[in-house]
Amino acid sequence: DVVVAVIDSGVDYTHPDLAANIWTNPGEVAGDGIDNDLNGFIDDVHGWDFRNDDADPMDDHRHGTHVAGIIGAVGNNELGVTGVAQQVSIMALKFLDNHNTGYTSDAVRAINYATMMRSEHDINVRVLNNSYTGQRSTALEESLAASTQADILFVSASGNGNVLGRGINLDNDPVYPASLTSANMIVVGASGQYDEMARFSNFGVETVDLIAPGIGIYGLAPTAMGSYQSLSGTSMAAPLVSATAALLVSHLPDITTAEIKDAVLGSVDEIDALSSKLSTGGRLNTAAALNLD
Ligand code: CA
Ligand code: CA
Repeated sequence: DVVVAVIDSGVDYTHPDLAANIWTNPGEVAGDGIDNDLNGFIDDVHGWDFRNDDADPMDDHRHGTHVAGIIGAVGNNELGVTGVAQQVSIMALKFLDNHNTGYTSDAVRAINYATMMRSEHDINVRVLNNSYTGQRSTALEESLAASTQADILFVSASGNGNVLGRGINLDNDPVYPASLTSANMIVVGASGQYDEMARFSNFGVETVDLIAPGIGIYGLAPTAMGSYQSLSGTSMAAPLVSATAALLVSHLPDITTAEIKDAVLGSVDEIDALSSKLSTGGRLNTAAALNLD
């Protein structure tokens, strides 16, 4: 019953390697044209499409399904891959379109939906995964403040650098939401197989907390696009942190967001070369965060 909201291009909630871990709104009756739970959204069964303003958050790109699968592709089902959290509930909040672009204002509405479902409808939304970069806005800052008040963790990708594909120092050149300073945030860059920082990964000792694997990550694609794919980016690193947070909540249901941050950031494997580029100077260690190693 740990819900992770994936704020992205949507999710293929019918994917055979994901469907069992898709959140279903217990207060909503599907397809009856009635807002059964009186939350302002009609037939929001698995989430919402804030780009097209409808109840169907199906992924028409491929980004969001991959992100969702890293978090929660079904484990031990004799199919494809497994997410880091083998049993979890993925809430699909679509705001990016079929070109993987969108409006910050729609992302804000998605964040506010997740906060509202936790605060007013007893849905156990504990983590928001935000694998995108956009514009700064007062509304975005306010939505993060509200999610902080609701004790929801906000995981943000650090972003994939400049037009040349080189990571930039966010301490000097901010991108959003990564460069906001909300208390409930963890900002994640990407690493490769040798624990090196990915060439494309944004960094910044004041802004980016840690790295997690983000090069050549094999995972889900929408079934209409072949069911599986390999992608690279800080977008793939952030969901590894989101899933680690979900596992922490699963083991310790009363853990606070501040405690999740302490557990994740205090357990990294430190890497000398990264001490000047990341606040923790290290790479995610999920087992250590769970105190299992
Ligand atoms: Ca509703
Ligand atoms: Ca309904």
